[in-house]
Amino acid sequence: MTEQFELTEGGAVLMDGNRLRDEIVAELNAEITAAGGPEVCLATVLVGDDKPSRIYVRNKQRKAAEAAMLSRHVELGADAGQAEVEQAVGDLARDPGVHGILVQLPLPEGLDADAVLELIPPEKDVDGLTPRSMGRLVRGQRGHVPCTPLGVMRLLDRYGVAVSGRSAVVIGRSTLVGLPQVLLLGRKGVDATPTLAHSRTPGLQEVCRQADIVVAAAGMARLVTADFVKPGAAVIDVGISRTADGIVGDVDFETVQAVAGAVTPMPGGTGPMTIACLLQNTLAAARMLGAFPD
Ligand code: NAP
Repeated sequence: MTEQFELTEGGAVLMDGNRLRDEIVAELNAEITAAGGPEVCLATVLVGDDKPSRIYVRNKQRKAAEAAMLSRHVELGADAGQAEVEQAVGDLARDPGVHGILVQLPLPEGLDADAVLELIPPEKDVDGLTPRSMGRLVRGQRGHVPCTPLGVMRLLDRYGVAVSGRSAVVIGRSTLVGLPQVLLLGRKGVDATPTLAHSRTPGLQEVCRQADIVVAAAGMARLVTADFVKPGAAVIDVGISRTADGIVGDVDFETVQAVAGAVTPMPGGTGPMTIACLLQNTLAAARMLGAFPD
């Protein structure tokens, strides 16, 4: 029997990231428990006192505990120097008890994030953001995939959105989201035909309206309105803008849900999926390092 999904008021399937995250966390817990509880450890590094970063890190640790994983946390002040941050990350890189390392970005101004990320071995790079992980993704080799675009793929899969042979538009070309998203959608075996849109794309509305799947990762509040959406398309909101009305996504949910076939809520869509994929990557890291049975 086909699973019945919750619908929005406008009739679109609600791609519920909280629900899927909870399913994934429960599966990870079951897998680790069934293996006799070998230690799987995620280390987080927080530099400075950025409030949202602190909340993200706390959520990651909380969900790691629910997944029966250990977490290690290193916190450095806003005045920490490059050498101090590199020392902390280098220590975690060498520590055999740590399987995944997440350096919460952005780092305070003046610090060279690329140099810090370079210190993370590919196996422990559970955020998938180092050049070596990116290179592996481009070449289709085994490695960690950035968590946010991976979470988008998991949502499409879980909610039965057809991807193969479909057209997709990704708005945004960052190495964090947009670029890896295009690679994942266009991968052999996934087989969408993605278009990469950005701030210089002429006629963005028209470009989006041709697509079966729209992934909005621009960081522009309510950029994607109903006029951008082909009837029945899947619309995934990655953007986060902090406005006077609170946190707002790139998608104008109210109007889009009446046209789309499936849509993510914001919050409660891609954010929780980023955490779920981070934890999946951490278990995969423990496997790559021989600390967890295959
Ligand atoms: P970014 O590095 O600032 O990149 C934004 C991209 O969007 C750029 O490529 C930019 O084009 C494009 N863009 C900006 N305004 C546009 C417009 N009006 N029309 C078309 N394209 C436009 O941001 P990011 O790191 O990729 O993050 C994107 C958003 O996702 C942010 O709001 C961020 O907070 C959020 N985010 C969410 C999660 C999650 O878990 N949900 C995770 C990570 C990030 P140009 O290249 O031409 O400048």
